[in-house]
Amino acid sequence: MSRVYNFSAGPAVLPEEVLKEAAEEMLDYRGCGMSVMEMSHRSKAYETIIQEAEADLRELMNIPDNYRVLFLQGGASQQFAMIPMNLMKNRVADYIVTGQWAKKAYQEACIYGKANKIASSEDKMFSYIPDCSDLPISEDADYVYICENNTIYGTKFKTLPNTKGKTLVSDVSSCFLSEPVDVTKYGLIYGGVQKNIGPAGVVIVIIREDLITEDVLPGTPTMLKYKIHADNKSLYNTPPAYGIYICGKVFKWLKKQGGLEAMKEYNERKAKVLYDFLDGSGLFRGTVRKEDRSLMNVPFVTGSDELDAKFVKEATAAGFVNLKGHRTVGGMRASIYNAMPIEGVEKLVEFMGKFEAGNA
Ligand SMILES: *Cc1c(COP(=O)(O)O)cnc(C)c1O
Repeated sequence: MSRVYNFSAGPAVLPEEVLKEAAEEMLDYRGCGMSVMEMSHRSKAYETIIQEAEADLRELMNIPDNYRVLFLQGGASQQFAMIPMNLMKNRVADYIVTGQWAKKAYQEACIYGKANKIASSEDKMFSYIPDCSDLPISEDADYVYICENNTIYGTKFKTLPNTKGKTLVSDVSSCFLSEPVDVTKYGLIYGGVQKNIGPAGVVIVIIREDLITEDVLPGTPTMLKYKIHADNKSLYNTPPAYGIYICGKVFKWLKKQGGLEAMKEYNERKAKVLYDFLDGSGLFRGTVRKEDRSLMNVPFVTGSDELDAKFVKEATAAGFVNLKGHRTVGGMRASIYNAMPIEGVEKLVEFMGKFEAGNA
């Protein structure tokens, strides 16, 4: 068996320990005589799995009792519609557009009401986070929406926007559990788990209880109501059972690593290795304004499309895979999520140094 260093933006690297444990339990989950994949989601064994997953997530993120945790399907993209359908009581919402995912969410919200683009960084290819300290927040906005870590462009909100008292909704898909968060600052936090937590197919929504109501837009399908999932503890219909099981194992792994404070410290140390190299390199450079750099997704370029392609090809052959930038922006991107060991980044940087020396 040989594992590569996988810098994919998602689906992405998972902790080896978790994969091994899942493999050991594949045929016979703890004496049940079957795999978790084959098990009823109403069984005692599964009930324990989903309840423990929620309890561990609550502990990791210090989620207050007046917030509900929902394990849903449809990916982060489904939330682009579910959020306005459930929260747009006045049919007005403000969107801060810092990348393609925020833009897609904004465009989807336009279907349901008056979505206002109150700030954007599109003028400079989404390479920075706009100043959000005093934005023209709409008087009757039902919420203010952000994408907290921009997976494609490699930017991250280091301070949350001043929403002037309005509910903050945040897509944290690519920074989920990478550092501590103050849940009380948000009305709704959500993310697809395939970036930093588990296998594709699960999206986690953390939502303040008062935002879960019957008062949704007319025509909202039952499956897209937060209330139905909250009332049924994420078991209204068959949940993505195996995916939730793996997420649960990752939560336990994170607790063992020391929780989110420890992950933040580790992620900062890890990202610094790559950013320091980029800042000192004569060939490679980062594409993001320094103060807005993400700890999770690091885009960089050489300035030459041919050299970029050559680098990606040679890196792949050397066991550093999925470094090609997003198809819409080109260049390279190293996604260095929680489960990417620091050795992976150190070895990548060593390889980049050699490439630079050979292509000066
Ligand atoms: C990947 C990603 C999405 C889309 O996720 P899907 O689960 O594929 O719908 C949305 N937002 C962010 C920030 C992402 O990184």
